[in-house]
Formats: sequence, structure tokens, C-alpha cells
Amino acid sequence: MVGVGHIPSEDVSRTKFHLWYHESYTSGIDEKARFPRDRYDKILAQLQTLPNSTKLEIKTPEPISRELLLLGHSTNYVDNFLNGALSESEMRRIGLTPWKPEIVDRTLLLTGGALEATLHAVQNGGLAGNMAGGTHHAHRDFGSGYCIFNDLAICAKYAVSELKKQSVVVLDLDVHQGDGTATILQSEQNILTISLHCSTNFPFRKSVSDIDIPLPPGISDDIYLQNVKIAIQNCLDFNPDLVLFQSGVDGLATDALGKLNISREGMQKRNQMVFDAMLGHRIPTVIFMGGGYSKPIEYTVDAFVDLFGDAITWNEKWHFE
Ligand SMILES: [Zn+2]
Repeated sequence: MVGVGHIPSEDVSRTKFHLWYHESYTSGIDEKARFPRDRYDKILAQLQTLPNSTKLEIKTPEPISRELLLLGHSTNYVDNFLNGALSESEMRRIGLTPWKPEIVDRTLLLTGGALEATLHAVQNGGLAGNMAGGTHHAHRDFGSGYCIFNDLAICAKYAVSELKKQSVVVLDLDVHQGDGTATILQSEQNILTISLHCSTNFPFRKSVSDIDIPLPPGISDDIYLQNVKIAIQNCLDFNPDLVLFQSGVDGLATDALGKLNISREGMQKRNQMVFDAMLGHRIPTVIFMGGGYSKPIEYTVDAFVDLFGDAITWNEKWHFE
């Protein structure tokens, strides 16, 4: 492979948008589960047809270690999950049921993908992402709302303790509050949690993030984007050296769970506002995919393809403009 101008070829590869993905993101969920598991395959297929897909590098994750899971979770909870010893009610609270044994590997790979994306963004700058996760409803001792382990909390703590980052922001723009992230990271001075969400959506008992911006149901693009701007400013005010962006698209008007009324264009504008701000301040940013439950699922798929397609473009701007 040849380089671009004076840049050696291995550096050209490093400057592509790296997106972690594993087929178990889909196959690790039982086909009878209510969760729209085929969204991952569909997003991947569409991403590969984008004009800028040559600047996309799909990466295969390694499973996360038990030790790193303990950054965010209690020993009991981690070991019970790994040993298939969670109770029926614990599994029901998570959802994704009926569970199949492959859900363990899926969870370890998915959380490993988030960690590798975080490491990549810190080492190379720009944007990196994981094509699943953003599992913000997972708490220290229990999972909930389709979330088993909290990838955002684990990666934020990893960035501080192992990568020596001084200031990390979890910017959570999913329509649901990042309740698990807020509680796990409650006493972390180097990590700021921001959650912009619909006030009447799950979880019905909210946690307290460092900054919560609850939105009334039914709002559309204008008010939404004004509040996105506030959330981004709050993020920049913390002067972060790393941003973990939970980019759920379940605020779309077509979403079956979210109660906001955001257009596809509004959602794309939101992502571009985040990318512009982080590029402008040279803050490495990791995309944790988040929720999306439109009916039909194609609306969710389109919005995630917009997200990752723009991430390719903005990552390119970071490295070459
Ligand atoms: Zn959500």
C-alpha cells in the first residue's frame, strides 16, 4: 500500500475511521428476542456502499478481561454473569430474552470493542467507534434496559486510571437517561457525565448525572438542537481531553420507544454539531452507538449510517485539514 504524499502507509491506515464490529453483535442475541438485533448487519452492509467507505476500517474486537469489567462493576455481578448464574428476574430486568449461551461472548466482545475504540482515539486522535453498545442503563450491581455491562463507565475509568487522562466527558444524547453511567461515575472527579434525554422516557426513576438536561416529550428539531448546543457547551466547559459520545438515535419521531419528534435531518445535524465542536477543539471522541427502535427498523439504520458516514468524514478532516 502506498502512502499519501509524505505520509507513510501505516499512518494512512491509522487515520482511517476505525469502527469495531463483530458478527456476534447480531448472532449473540436470540432471534426470538424483541430487541431489533438485525440492525447491526444492516448498518454494516449500508456503510460499505458509502462513497467514503474507503476511509472506513472495520476492526474485530477482542473480548474484554474480567479484571477490566471490575472497573465498573461488582465482583458478584460480574462473576454471576460470566458463570451463567444470574437469576430469572435479573435477566428479565436486562431484557434481550430469551438468552442463549452466546450472549456471554457477545457481551465481552462488545465491551472489548468499546475499550479498543477508546484506546485508538486516545493514541491517534480523531474519531473512533464501536458499532454496538452505549450500554448506559447498566449499574454497578445489576443490568437493566438491554444493558449488561456499562461500556461508557468502564472506558471512562480506564481512560483516567490506565491512559492517564485528566478530564473525560460522557456526552449522552440518547433519548433515555444515562442512569447507570451517572451512578457508577458519581464520585469520579475527573469524569463529567452529561445526559440530554426525554423526561418521560425510561428509566422512570432517574439518577443524578453531573449535568442532566431533561426534555419534554414531543419536541422537534429546533428546541432539541438548542439543547444539544447547551450540552456541547457544558462538555467543552469541562475542558475534556477525551469525549465518550453516546449517540443513540431513539429520539427520532419514528422510534417506537423514544417520545421525541426529531427528523432524520435533525438527528444528523446533532451529530455534526458534536463532531464540529470536538474537531474545533481537537478533542478525541469515541462513538458508543446507543439505542434505536424505529418501526420499521430501516429508519434507525439510516440514522446510524448517517452517524458513522459523517464520522468517517469528520475523522478525515481531523487528520488532513
Ligand atoms: Zn435509548
